[in-house]
Amino acid sequence: MKKLSGLWRNWLTGGLMKIEQENAAIEHSAGQETVLKGIAAASGIEIGIVLVVGNTPEQPLSFYETSPISISEQDVPFELSRLDAALETTRNEITEIRNKVKVSLDEKEAGIFDAHLLIVEDKKLKNEVVAGIKEKLLSAESVFSGVMQRYITAISSVADPYLKERAADVVDVAGRILGHLLGWKRTLLEHLPGQRIVVTKELTPSDTVMLDRENVQAFATETGAKTSHSAILARSMRIPAVVGIPGILSKVRNGDVMIVDGYQGVVILNPSPETLEEYALKEAENEKIYNDLLTESGQRSETLDGYRIALAANLDDPAKAVELEKYGAFGVGLFRTEYLFLKDHIPTEEEQYEVYSTLASRCGAAPVVIRTLDLGGDKISSLINFDQEPNPFLGLRSVRLCLAYPHLLKPQLRAILRAGVHGNICMMFPMLTCVDELDELLRILEQIKEELKREKIRFSENIKVGVMIETPAAALAADQFAERCDFMSIGTNDLVQYTMAVDRGNERVASLYRPFHPVILRLIRHVVEAAEHAGIWVSVCGEMAADPMYIPLLLGLGIRELSMSLVSLAPAKHVVRSMKYIDAESVAERSLLCSSHQEVKEIAETFLRMTARGVLDLNIT
Ligand code: PEP
Ligand code: MG
Repeated sequence: MKKLSGLWRNWLTGGLMKIEQENAAIEHSAGQETVLKGIAAASGIEIGIVLVVGNTPEQPLSFYETSPISISEQDVPFELSRLDAALETTRNEITEIRNKVKVSLDEKEAGIFDAHLLIVEDKKLKNEVVAGIKEKLLSAESVFSGVMQRYITAISSVADPYLKERAADVVDVAGRILGHLLGWKRTLLEHLPGQRIVVTKELTPSDTVMLDRENVQAFATETGAKTSHSAILARSMRIPAVVGIPGILSKVRNGDVMIVDGYQGVVILNPSPETLEEYALKEAENEKIYNDLLTESGQRSETLDGYRIALAANLDDPAKAVELEKYGAFGVGLFRTEYLFLKDHIPTEEEQYEVYSTLASRCGAAPVVIRTLDLGGDKISSLINFDQEPNPFLGLRSVRLCLAYPHLLKPQLRAILRAGVHGNICMMFPMLTCVDELDELLRILEQIKEELKREKIRFSENIKVGVMIETPAAALAADQFAERCDFMSIGTNDLVQYTMAVDRGNERVASLYRPFHPVILRLIRHVVEAAEHAGIWVSVCGEMAADPMYIPLLLGLGIRELSMSLVSLAPAKHVVRSMKYIDAESVAERSLLCSSHQEVKEIAETFLRMTARGVLDLNIT
């Protein structure tokens, strides 16, 4: 240990000078063009500079921001205090780890952290950063990362194997300090240092909802799949995204140039000038196809043989309601209220009432389906005391959580009922498995209506109540659910997940996530028959509804309403307007007889090629 501390001091004084002179020419050289394949999560092409975001203090940022952020003279004291705070927090963190290791291992192992502390406490290093902030008028992280990058490059390039190995210690400590300067993941994502392509291991729905929308051009993640909630959010926010890219974090560095191709599900690192040109052309072509489709959005949503199909919007952000008309949406088929709960506080009844009634007034006579809170699974709010569960998607999710914590549910039901007087609001319960859950929810709803009456507060007495069919149990019991409610909406994202026993967000089993599988079609058909028998309406609001490949199939199975993200509406309307309902019925009949998802996919693809080929070529996600 003595040796290490001596060396560290040596680098910071004369020793480093020599190494620096020997390596004066070391520079960040542009890397080779590399194509990495992942899963297309949100359409669009973006070309930009990478920002790698670490996830936790245990998984520190190992790359450094390369574009310096300028500050004004007045900001200097603030930047110096941020530096002090970051060093102090890192020192406390390392001391704590050291003490834990000392108890669980021994003094020798714990000694490694003494070397880390020496780095944090080194006065010369700190003085260099302080001087940089004052003289160059750059932010603390810009100066700090520049200084550390220089040290690390120099240390890594010496021949001495012992010294070389110590570079890892410096990277570790520098990553911690930098992490605190930038704020861990969440803070960084909320305030990107300019236009960036975010590369990170995982983006949870609560990370995604807080993203700095002005500056995030695209994102690429190591985990995730097409129907994970972050992918759905990316589509709704119109941020091109590729997810499930194995090993991307070990291949990119901050400052790399990257193309994100959200149509094909690839990212290209350090693209050549030819590739850049090819992509610029591709993006222009795709935009043209899309804009042509958008010109149809005011037309009737009707098949060639005259069947009307309702196309509604899925919203997670109420601010998007102003765009319903532009994209040709007939109302809102699914408003995901949980995103209101993934911000910085739990919304009050009044705040929710405000949001729901504004939505309702904006939509006039068109229905606005407000789904009650669907937290849990991957949508974890730090505001609610979630216990860690071994299988969160099979745990206290959605209505189960609401029934366990009525203080979350009741204000929401009150707000929805009250907002109902401002338009055509419908209420929908997600993730049901058994009818007794629905019976209990309906009992609470009646209780709340009585409360509102007693309090003489206006509300919509006859609000329509629907259920989401998202579990095989609910699909098979659709007749019993249909007897008790006014409408059903099939949530195919979860229905596929729970039927195929495949985590919808796990890229490792993404190839087994098969919406085309004939068993899924059978379940959908069963639900449609139950709805027809009970005389109630049924829609699909999962991602199947948004994908042109599935639309003819769904219509052929008897679905007459589809709800999807705003950007998906124009291509969907084009598909509807290019086909005959009678042909869709034959597509569905043949598909129901298939035994594999591949066969169904071929039928669907051949049909789409014959009817709405342009949409297929665009490969919209
Ligand atoms: C679904 O499961 O299909 C659905 C629409 O709900 P979510 O994607 O929000 O789980
Ligand atoms: Mg769902």
